[in-house]
Amino acid sequence: MGDCIFCKLACGEIPTDMVYEDEKIAVFRDAAPQAPVHMLMVPKAHVDSLDELKDEHAELMGHMMLKIKEIAAKEGLGNGYRCVINTGEDGQQTVKHLHIHIMGGRSMQWPPG
Ligand code: AMP
Repeated sequence: MGDCIFCKLACGEIPTDMVYEDEKIAVFRDAAPQAPVHMLMVPKAHVDSLDELKDEHAELMGHMMLKIKEIAAKEGLGNGYRCVINTGEDGQQTVKHLHIHIMGGRSMQWPPG
């Protein structure tokens, strides 16, 4: 686990506003929300980024993709939402633990601003 903040949040070592968790993944609220609903979905097993995914992660990633709609619906995002995976330096990934931003709650322009 090392010093990874998202590992600590995902396993409960550091308390957070947890929206959903199971044996493979955790979903918690972003500490600096960019939308009325802004959640982060992470795998409990540490993976740095999309760039580090291997074939063995296929089931995990499928699980994550399939859970998004269920969690979004429970959070009242039935009218739609945006998912973003920032990757690497040019992708402005600031936390080096793979995470999916799930954002919604209003019509969102892209790019922002
Ligand atoms: P990214 O820039 O894609 O790496 O996104 C990292 C996200 O993690 C940002 O939106 C931060 O606001 C969020 N974040 C950082 N630390 C925490 C934390 N302790 N709890 C919840 N969200 C966090």
